[in-house]
Amino acid sequence: MAKGTVKFEVETCKGCELCIEACPQGSIELSPHLNKQGYHYAVLVKDNCTGCVNCALVCPDAVITVYREKKKGKTPVATISNVKQDITVTVS
Ligand code: SF4
Ligand code: SF4
Repeated sequence: MAKGTVKFEVETCKGCELCIEACPQGSIELSPHLNKQGYHYAVLVKDNCTGCVNCALVCPDAVITVYREKKKGKTPVATISNVKQDITVTVS
């Protein structure tokens, strides 16, 4: 499963909770603290975000940015097939 994270523009959030409802992972809650506008703002409370972007799509104030981790590991650059004898491959 993909790994993601989200960042909220805390001072612009109005605490409408739409992102909380939209998150299939239950990753978001409202902070007990208030922003400068006097709203409890959304925060990421779990490390299980998949980067699905549901929250960003429903946010009426577009204050959520979603990040996805790039896949780890090496990408194959070549495939050797149909080998009938011993071979030596040197990668520089
Ligand atoms: S990107 Fe998806 S999983 Fe992550 S916080 Fe938003 S709704 Fe939840
Ligand atoms: S949907 Fe947007 S404005 Fe509403 S609580 Fe979430 S981040 Fe804040």
